Amino acid sequence: MEKMIKEGKIFCKIYSDKKISRELPVFYNPAMKTNRDVTVELLRVQKRNNLQIADVLAASGIRSIRMIKELPAKKIKTVLINDCSENAVKLIKENLKINKLNLGKNNKITISCNDANKALLDGNGFDYIDIDPFGSPNPFIDSAVKRLARDGILAVTATDTSALAGTFENACRRKYWAKPMRNELMHEIGIRILIRKVQLIASQYEKALTPLLSYSTQHYMRVFFVCEKGKEKADAINNLHKYVLYCTNCMQIQTDNLNKIECCNKQMQYAGPCWVGELNQKKMVQHILDNVMRNKMYKEEKELQKLLQAIKEESCVSTVGFYDIHMLVKRNNLKNIPKFDFIIKACKQRGFDAVRTHFDEYAIKSNISAKMLISILKELN
Ligand SMILES: [Zn+2]
Repeated sequence: MEKMIKEGKIFCKIYSDKKISRELPVFYNPAMKTNRDVTVELLRVQKRNNLQIADVLAASGIRSIRMIKELPAKKIKTVLINDCSENAVKLIKENLKINKLNLGKNNKITISCNDANKALLDGNGFDYIDIDPFGSPNPFIDSAVKRLARDGILAVTATDTSALAGTFENACRRKYWAKPMRNELMHEIGIRILIRKVQLIASQYEKALTPLLSYSTQHYMRVFFVCEKGKEKADAINNLHKYVLYCTNCMQIQTDNLNKIECCNKQMQYAGPCWVGELNQKKMVQHILDNVMRNKMYKEEKELQKLLQAIKEESCVSTVGFYDIHMLVKRNNLKNIPKFDFIIKACKQRGFDAVRTHFDEYAIKSNISAKMLISILKELN
């Protein structure tokens, strides 16, 4: 069934059905609105103009059309809107017309109906590449990093979160070359595993990809990387690929080059290797959040505001992993769950960083040890 929707500043014709699936002639996912909001706002805060953009899995074209309509004109030099489906390309053309983007007059836009890899490899290079597939981004990463320009930005979505988060350990090993962890840390570790995979592929071409913004939701994981060139830079990235170790007894977390380490007289569980560097660029996230809070268009977008607020807060602490307070309380047979503000304050009074995290609403991200946190929880009980 065809339907007209409004998203951001644009109108868009889509095919809708009760269930979102690959079977729809053109794929539109309303759960991805936040994803597109973040994309537009991340590009808005980049200092560079004249971006050459590739949106190679464009579906209805909604992402590209939003970028063209919502960003200042000087920001974009060209946009390649590609989809391998003829139905999609037909719809993209209709949607451009609906939004008064006349192809004849607007020489910024190129539309093509190609395999996404071919569309990328046929190009000379891009400053922004968006890989937003249904499922794993794996088939497209190689072509994308090959055509990613110096200082270019690569955005990657993965909707196969069950592999990354460890529901199927072997699927994660096959697709992402690392061991996942099936516990409260699974989404953070999953996104770090995804980051490493993309970085490894880029490092083959002496490109260093540093995360600018990373987050995980119920339906997908999303990472934006910035690209630098050079052997040393690529090596420096690879040096931050480590194991995450987790004590199933006291819940202590650490990172190491080794995967066999003991805590509480028994071997710690491990995941990885994965990226153990920063997930977000603090200043940039702050800038995006400020813009979003000022923009009337996002006034009702509580999900977007909440997500960016949480990412901003947690970007102040660079520790890998977090402590699920509800689990710690239960495991230590404590009666009450203290107020999170009190726990955070107590950690800070002892000289540690502590924040909440978007990965787990019951958790605190802190560089404090599990044992010291447990003693705080006991004091607050
Ligand atoms: Zn332990």
